[in-house]
Amino acid sequence: MERKRRTNLVHGGTRRSQWGEVSEAIYLTQGFVYDSAEAAEARFLKAEPGEFIYARYGNPTVAMFEERMAMLEGAEDGFACASGMAAVNGALTSMLRAGDHVVSARALFGSCLYVLEEVLTRYGVEVTFVDGTDLDQWRAALRPDTKAVFFESMANPTLELVDIAAVAELAHGVGAKVIVDNVFSTPVYSRAIAQGADLVVYSTTKHVDGQGRCLGGVILGPREHIRGVVEPYMKHTGGSMSPFNAWVMLKGLETLELRVRAQTEGAEAIATALSGHPALRRVIYPGLDSHPQHALAMRQLGAGGTMLALDLEGGKPAAFRFLNALQIVLISNNLGDARSIITHPATTTHQRLSPEIRAQLGIGDGLVRLSVGIEDPEDLVADLSAALDVALEAAA
Ligand SMILES: *Cc1c(COP(=O)(O)O)cnc(C)c1O
Repeated sequence: MERKRRTNLVHGGTRRSQWGEVSEAIYLTQGFVYDSAEAAEARFLKAEPGEFIYARYGNPTVAMFEERMAMLEGAEDGFACASGMAAVNGALTSMLRAGDHVVSARALFGSCLYVLEEVLTRYGVEVTFVDGTDLDQWRAALRPDTKAVFFESMANPTLELVDIAAVAELAHGVGAKVIVDNVFSTPVYSRAIAQGADLVVYSTTKHVDGQGRCLGGVILGPREHIRGVVEPYMKHTGGSMSPFNAWVMLKGLETLELRVRAQTEGAEAIATALSGHPALRRVIYPGLDSHPQHALAMRQLGAGGTMLALDLEGGKPAAFRFLNALQIVLISNNLGDARSIITHPATTTHQRLSPEIRAQLGIGDGLVRLSVGIEDPEDLVADLSAALDVALEAAA
């Protein structure tokens, strides 16, 4: 019987040792012992699934995490990475070579932008940036030599969506692979592979750990590509996940869906309660009817997600007054955590961008990004409303 997602989140991929432990073991070992010299020779010739050589290549705890993540995403296989950026870099670099062409959405997490703009181009890959929400720009940028397209399905911090199915259809028309960074959509709401993504990448630092402890990432996709293209690159270049972190991520997966659904409920409550507050120009939340891509969000994710953005009247001074008045919500730059976390992108995560580029991406000085945690939504609404009142009063 095919098991459902919530069952797989708890049991998927578990392999027990001879001790029959309930909670997955942490195999904190970099190497493995062979019964004989012949056995070592055979394993180096070809390691079957469940056979290990060296932790950079694979490890039992990491393999459990990879299998559980692949089940969750509906992918054939996955490779776990040391961080989300190791996954983004690995997914791209493992399949590209000098002379290849890549099309990427422009609205990217800063480090993703660095990989595309600085790293790939340094090695002779040509990269064209487009407005990810504009299908005409994708159409115009794609060429017969385009090997890959890359985008964040929901962009940080403005929560603009890229239509995975539509971009995939265009990209596949020229034979390009579609690589989706799906962090903001979360693995719970992701249907990226069904919608045409070839590879899906997560920073598992975010919702999968969800408790602010470890860095991690994963690349998910067809087995042939993961084992034939991604694994050789990752295992030889050193970006593999540590067994300890894989164990933390396995623990995170057990409660992932419960947390993400509670976070989404909180985000919906906050978006609804704060809409129309006089301190705000806009509440940006894909779950609201007022979001310009609400219909796409419902089709692509079926939910508004766990993130929202608030655009305050009065620019940076108002945004800072608001942040400094918060009592429960923490000022930090992680996201997907059980704790609600808020950040001012223009002065932190997107500080390096020029004001022109920030304006182009919709990152104004009054914009704050809120990652909703699992606290009681009533407490969060009260905290945020009171802090907005402070921002407003001080301005008056
Ligand atoms: C955080 C993040 C990353 C990078 O993940 P790390 O685990 O911090 O390396 C990549 N893409 C997106 C969209 C992110 O939010």
